[in-house]
Amino acid sequence: MSDIDVLLQETRSFPPPSDFRVTARVHDARLQDDASMDPVNFWAREASELTWSKPWDTVLEWTPPHAKWFQGGQLNASVNCVDRHIHGPRRNKAAIIWEGEPGDRRTFTYWDMYREVNLAANMLKKLGVVKGDRVAIYLPMIPEAIFAMLACARIGAVHTVVFGGFSPESLRDRINDCGCKVLITADGGYRRGQIVPLKRNADEALKDCPTIEHVLVVMRRRSGVGDETFAEMQEGRDHWWHRLKRQVPKHCEPEVMDAEDLLFILYTSGTTGKPKGIVHTTGGYMTGVASTTKYVFDLKEEDVYWCTADIGWITGHSYLVYGPLANGATQVVYEGAPDWPEKDRFWQICERYGVSIFYTAPTAIRAFMKWGTPYVEKHDLSQLRLLGSVGEPINPEAWMWYHKHIGQERCPIVDTWWQTETGAIMITPLPGVTATKPGSATTPFPGIKTALLDTAGNEIGVGGGLLAITHPWPSMLRTIWGDDARYVDTYFTKWPNRLDLYFPGDGAKRDDDGYLWILGRVDDVLNVAGHRIGTMEVESALVDHPAVAEAAVVGKAHEIKGQAIAAFVSLRAGFTPSGSLRDELREHVAMKIGALARPDDILFSADLPKTRSGKIMRRLLRDIAEGRALGDTTTLADPSVVAALKDQYEAQE
Ligand code: ATP
Ligand code: MG
Repeated sequence: MSDIDVLLQETRSFPPPSDFRVTARVHDARLQDDASMDPVNFWAREASELTWSKPWDTVLEWTPPHAKWFQGGQLNASVNCVDRHIHGPRRNKAAIIWEGEPGDRRTFTYWDMYREVNLAANMLKKLGVVKGDRVAIYLPMIPEAIFAMLACARIGAVHTVVFGGFSPESLRDRINDCGCKVLITADGGYRRGQIVPLKRNADEALKDCPTIEHVLVVMRRRSGVGDETFAEMQEGRDHWWHRLKRQVPKHCEPEVMDAEDLLFILYTSGTTGKPKGIVHTTGGYMTGVASTTKYVFDLKEEDVYWCTADIGWITGHSYLVYGPLANGATQVVYEGAPDWPEKDRFWQICERYGVSIFYTAPTAIRAFMKWGTPYVEKHDLSQLRLLGSVGEPINPEAWMWYHKHIGQERCPIVDTWWQTETGAIMITPLPGVTATKPGSATTPFPGIKTALLDTAGNEIGVGGGLLAITHPWPSMLRTIWGDDARYVDTYFTKWPNRLDLYFPGDGAKRDDDGYLWILGRVDDVLNVAGHRIGTMEVESALVDHPAVAEAAVVGKAHEIKGQAIAAFVSLRAGFTPSGSLRDELREHVAMKIGALARPDDILFSADLPKTRSGKIMRRLLRDIAEGRALGDTTTLADPSVVAALKDQYEAQE
């Protein structure tokens, strides 16, 4: 079976509002026409917007499946994010407007950033870190996390950021996988009013991390210098950030980096299995994120930009650190949860700082829907002009809700498809040009070449198939850390003898207008009576029902049909589970997309199992539906959710 049958139809379309279009950075099809231009020329033009200390000799060297971009060129990522803004009018422009969960606030201008990054770089040097060493960063969403990343970049150390919500075991595995020399952590961070004891977790992890020589500890908790309740300092190994800072010089000469020198390693979210250490390099990555930030978010000098992602994920790296700072943006950074102390915290922040560009994930949007609009309506969101979504397919009804209640029908929505591996946004609307359709990531960014293929590698015009990227791009991963064979095998062996075709693992459909609709991971695609249906389609039909906030759909083995459809559904505020609602939902799906897609089982659940980055983990739901032992659960946000679902499912059977 090669194609994915496409059943769900969505015909709504939203052209860019005319007042948005006239002032947009890209407001006619010119840049999009560049998409037909040679990617090498396009990316060379974009790369030339960065600050290089030595220009490159060759733009691209492509020995499939290994690419090298901008060979011979030299640059430093921290110089591009900070130093190049301090000589002109941006010197005292706010770079980061930070708000902690308890309500504390700090603002850093580009000049402040310059000073902090230089000091942090010298602290790392003092601890013996040299170019090429790996440094683990396990911090809450505080300004020091950004300084730490840029400090590594400044001295040529490779950072690996581990999400602050991860356990000691996860931290340990990542540190050991790439052999980090130094760990940067904090005494604690705040999450839903609780203190996350990062240093204690780190100590636990470090019992078994032989490569770590030093630990740099930021004091996040404001209970006074020297308070060791949450951070027991180990003499010789552990150092307080604020103390070491006073002992180092104020200026740190940036290391000259080759374009292909490593910038960072980041482990994937682990939605489909054991996380992979994705390797990104300096020149290509910076080119990809700087260019996409500018065009996809239509970023202007006066914007207040807010990406709600944690720096522990690729979205935080590309669209909270490197992309916006390379563009000299002013951005909001928030430490904590969206529902603390109340469910309107995000809208309060948007109002307080006059946020104009807001970038979040479908999981958050579905939570806002579940909580209801009164939390939104309390706040003045009139400064918002552009909204973005990333992380999972966005169901059309969630898109419509976002458009109506957050965007107030005024703001274009950019649904951006990309991955840890791609480094930067790949498929996305350009907000001043593209007419958007709810649920479609629309078309590839200029310089990105994609195809829809069947398993034999034949092109699919209209309909469903496997997404492929057919030309290398600057911000692509270079390898998996320590396992190049796995790199080749995971991404470049889907089509026999075609080492030049990158397979992201996702299925998609193309409609009559040439728009792409991501249908989710190919491993998740359902096979019902010989029809291959995207889980996304059935989920979207469920979310279309007014009672449903969120749905996850999986296939389970069925003697006759091949697979039967099991749906896990969480309801919006004000609705309660019942047998009649179950029947109604099954009929709703049948009505929206056909009897074929009618779910066999529906289980109501307050929560769905998600990764810590907020993505639904269908493989665990499949384990439940098929009565298997649960697979790897280490990247789950809340393991109790899946255990409870398993019990509930078995009781119903
Ligand atoms: P792992 O690779 O470890 O299983 P992961 O794939 O969830 O984890 P990420 O790199 O964080 O790790 O996520 C990339 C994936 O997220 C994409 O392959 C795609 O499935 C999904 N995704 C991201 N953005 C979108 C989007 N706008 N529309 C649809 N799907 C998206
Ligand atoms: Mg992935």
